[in-house]
Amino acid sequence: MKVLGIETSCDETGVAVYDTDAGLRAHALYSQIALHAEYGGVVPELASRDHVRKLLPLIRQTLAESGLDVNELDGVAYTAGPGLVGALLVGAGVARALAWALEVPAIGVHHMEGHLLAPLMEDDPLGRPQPPFVALLVSGGHTQLVAVDAIGQYRLLGETLDDAAGEAFDKTAKLMGLPYPGGPQLAAQAELGRPGLFKFARPMTDRPGLDFSFSGLKTQVLLAWRNSDQSDQTRADIARAFEDAVVDTLAIKCGRALDAAGCDTLVVAGGVGANRRLRAKLATMTEKRGGRVCFPRPAFCTDNGAMIAYAGALRLQAGQFESAAVKVTPRWDMALLQAV
Ligand code: ATP
Ligand code: MG
Ligand code: FE
Repeated sequence: MKVLGIETSCDETGVAVYDTDAGLRAHALYSQIALHAEYGGVVPELASRDHVRKLLPLIRQTLAESGLDVNELDGVAYTAGPGLVGALLVGAGVARALAWALEVPAIGVHHMEGHLLAPLMEDDPLGRPQPPFVALLVSGGHTQLVAVDAIGQYRLLGETLDDAAGEAFDKTAKLMGLPYPGGPQLAAQAELGRPGLFKFARPMTDRPGLDFSFSGLKTQVLLAWRNSDQSDQTRADIARAFEDAVVDTLAIKCGRALDAAGCDTLVVAGGVGANRRLRAKLATMTEKRGGRVCFPRPAFCTDNGAMIAYAGALRLQAGQFESAAVKVTPRWDMALLQAV
């Protein structure tokens, strides 16, 4: 089954073709970062309009790269939520219209299920991870630990009570004067920083439970930065201490979540999953337990069309599809999904 996937939930236009026999055939991404940079954050209406401009050319490009004619598609998958409602409607409208014209089924995909399943697209020497496993979703808008009992059957074990991990990276970068979007820049600074010169808390690890809180860490950085000489080296040292604090905290909670779920396989997804130190720490942690951790390639940690094509293909293959109504769900609880 050949499925076109469309992602437009925020500031990235992503398109891909996933073939359930041959794997990923093509994918393309257009990022709106430059468009929003001067505002220091995503402007929803500008995002919607830019998706309108970029989506059709990107679909043509992706189809050409896949070597398929549009008539060879067996289904269309699109992100139906959560996300910015205007941005979601662009992808949903195009996907539905295309499916209608081609007389193939279309399906709305949960953006976080897309992230969660992205690691399963990768070739793994130990084979594709099979449920039950635990997923750590660490993105710009979410930090969640999820027990995956089956594909499509998700139980929330814990989540952030305030900022998401990616949001904490972005805000911390901003307060130390790094340009938008700061998360990856802060991580790059941390590579140049010396460990142990600054010490920040591992929030909520001193008590049982699987919830997170990252906003206090940001305040600790602000105070340390204000009281420092604000040199480039100090910025790098603080970035390193911040990254170590976030990575340690995530690793501690992942270990606890594996214990709670009785699993030895961890799957990590979302933009912060691209973080080099997080990847190394979780690999060591799971190895020590005799388990393993699976990540998407860094480009598929952040938003992309491939994860939507893949998640949609699994559901379409199971016979699921939706009526022709263009419906999006800007706020959507993943625990309400139907099992595949
Ligand atoms: P959501 O999926 O929750 O709706 P989103 O789609 O905006 O949010 P993603 O695209 O998955 O989030 O990830 C973007 C986030 O990942 C940003 O907050 C960014 O700072 C963070 N991020 C990207 N690369 C890195 C990195 N190397 N280290 C730390 N954080 C990173
Ligand atoms: Mg983005
Ligand atoms: Fe995302």
